[in-house]
Amino acid sequence: MKVWIEQEYCTGDGLCEELCPAVFEMGDDGLAHESDVLDAQAQCAGECIYVKL
Ligand code: SF4
Repeated sequence: MKVWIEQEYCTGDGLCEELCPAVFEMGDDGLAHESDVLDAQAQCAGECIYVKL
């Protein structure tokens, strides 16, 4: 899984880190937290989280 953020659209609300700190705090561990990543993507205020499965 590859996860990235288009930072120009990020509102900085920190929701992604709250929902999935293993990925959004560490930046590179998507495999063990796939459902959390997708949850964060769905709730991202800036709609700027991209996931390639
Ligand atoms: S949830 Fe989206 S808008 Fe909010 S901090 Fe994360 S990337 Fe930025």
